[in-house]
Amino acid sequence: MTALLLVGTAQSANPFFETYKNKYGAPPFDKIKNEHYKPAFTEGIKQQQAEINAIANSKAAPTFVNTIEAMDFSGVLLKKVSSVFFNLYSSETNEGMSKIATEISPVLSEHNDNIYLNEKLFARVKTLYDNRAKLNLTPEQTRLLEKYHRNFIRSGAALNKEQKEKLRAINKELGLAQLAFGQNVLDETNAYQKVVDNVADLAGLPESVRQAAAADAKEAKMDGKWLFSTHKASFIPVLQYSDNRQLRKDLLMAYTTRANHDNDKDNKAVINKIVKLRLQKAQLLGFDTSAAFILDDTMAKTPKTVYDFLATVWTPALNKAKTEAAELQKLMDKEGKGEKLEAWDWWYYSEKLRKANFNLDEEALKPYFKLENVRKGVFDLATKLYGLKFKKLHDMPIYHPDVEVFEVTDADSSLVGILYTDYFPRPGKRAGAWMNNISDQYKKDGINHRPIICNVGNFTKPTAGKPSLLNMDEVETLFHEFGHALHGLLTQCTYPSLSGTSVSRDFVEFPSQIMENWCWEPEVMKTYARHYKTGEVMPQELMDKIQLAGTFNQGFVNAELLSASLLDMDYHTIKDTANFDVAAFENASLARMGMIPQIIVRYRSTFFNHIFEGDYSAGYYSYTWAAVLDADAFAAFKETGDVYNPKVAKAFRKNILERGDSDDPMKLYRKFRGANPNPDALLKKRGLK
Ligand SMILES: [Zn+2]
Repeated sequence: MTALLLVGTAQSANPFFETYKNKYGAPPFDKIKNEHYKPAFTEGIKQQQAEINAIANSKAAPTFVNTIEAMDFSGVLLKKVSSVFFNLYSSETNEGMSKIATEISPVLSEHNDNIYLNEKLFARVKTLYDNRAKLNLTPEQTRLLEKYHRNFIRSGAALNKEQKEKLRAINKELGLAQLAFGQNVLDETNAYQKVVDNVADLAGLPESVRQAAAADAKEAKMDGKWLFSTHKASFIPVLQYSDNRQLRKDLLMAYTTRANHDNDKDNKAVINKIVKLRLQKAQLLGFDTSAAFILDDTMAKTPKTVYDFLATVWTPALNKAKTEAAELQKLMDKEGKGEKLEAWDWWYYSEKLRKANFNLDEEALKPYFKLENVRKGVFDLATKLYGLKFKKLHDMPIYHPDVEVFEVTDADSSLVGILYTDYFPRPGKRAGAWMNNISDQYKKDGINHRPIICNVGNFTKPTAGKPSLLNMDEVETLFHEFGHALHGLLTQCTYPSLSGTSVSRDFVEFPSQIMENWCWEPEVMKTYARHYKTGEVMPQELMDKIQLAGTFNQGFVNAELLSASLLDMDYHTIKDTANFDVAAFENASLARMGMIPQIIVRYRSTFFNHIFEGDYSAGYYSYTWAAVLDADAFAAFKETGDVYNPKVAKAFRKNILERGDSDDPMKLYRKFRGANPNPDALLKKRGLK
């Protein structure tokens, strides 16, 4: 009796085991402590496993409701603890949480395998899938059934025992190889040092860059010298401003040859292994190339679609880059040194050109981008487009004083969802900016559960005398992440696995990137770009400069980006790895594209982390793919002469923002636009047409 009571007390003290009392169902962040996570994870996994076993072992014939729907609504406690834990693990972590993460990650992946490799469960899913045409399902239910079936297949559920063993071995080896790849890049990046001991060698560098290099040298016990590295923050300013051509060359070469020195940190052999293993995996799962396997699960669907798509942007980008190269060469000729433009000259001379043509000084813009004004600007934009209203809530539990909470309501005053904003850097928050769900939207038992969303960033902090004033990149990022938030907030799906941003990776950046189009529209800027002291709207002359600078150097930027996308596709469409050699392969790939020597592919193979360390293989094209969608979709507003056009906004909301993954993304796009996405709008926007 006593023991039972004790367990009862311990559990009731753990907030995850209680129904959240908050009226919005928000987690009681103020009561959650490190010691609550592990018991909740353990119990959550146990509960979901019991639910899954009950589904798999059921004597009843499989139906959509007793199998697919039951699976999708299972694991409530596990979701509850996971969402809080992983949100805070990114934005407000501590040593204790790191320990829990290391312990819980393998347990979670094993739990996942226990679901997706459960043979009885898969047999039920397969029966339903094979008979799906006869089941009288709604389109959303069909989509969910297909999604589950695909996930099972892709996890190896349809393989025989021997093949499953093989897949597990490949996955394990791949995981280790990808880890080694990332480690080598990190080690080589950290190992390189360029020491400058003669002040004359710093000619052209701004004072702030010199100071940073001097501080780095001091930290490395080289007082009085200047230290540069292959970290972007260190060497990009050198490429832009240094008059010292040799210094520029040394740093660019060091950066672009990382993990490519035929030593124990060389990644060529690692890539060889990764490419072979990925091909084996794809073939085991019934695909002829790794790209075919990966793309089967995306909006683009096939390697051919991606190649055709990349070609439409690559050719104009390369042509523009060639024109830009000729312009830079002219500038060099004027200096009369008889030098030919090389890769290490591009940033330097294009910076001179930028200054001459636009004279755009970022510092002069910042006073017009006070964070609170920008956020209000983006809220007002959502009001104009979708009728949303934002009310700050003061009595919500938060995990840090920087966090603010807003209630979002619709034009008819019904609840849309809750938005948390958490914008400033601090120890315990990882770099970058992101949107996340704290709880999903779904409909069950006649109730439409509204989502809780957060936007997290690392924007310039306010200081004693000054509010947070953003640079252009930060303004764009705030709009971008808010676009993800709208996708998460406005969703109207039945099933949690389909709602909000649970869409394929070449579609997920579309609702976010489209917001960036509004942020530099003069009409929109007039609403939010106001001087933080005087309240004065940004002068027209500054707004014009922003518009003009938008297409500068875009040949270079796009050639860099697209050559990396093509290289990625080339690696993952290999069918024969017999005589595969990384260096020769990269050269042949770039030669086939017709890449000019004055531009180096954005990521050379040995440090292409996205595709060899991470899971963006056959996926680097996604950024440009989504850019085509957002430019074409924004053109739908512009064509009407009204960037707030209510009819277009309504169509965008109904067909894109509300739909999550409830239908094929291309179909959703066509419903919105009445046509396939057309790359022309992007080409124009980037000055390539
Ligand atoms: Zn994004």
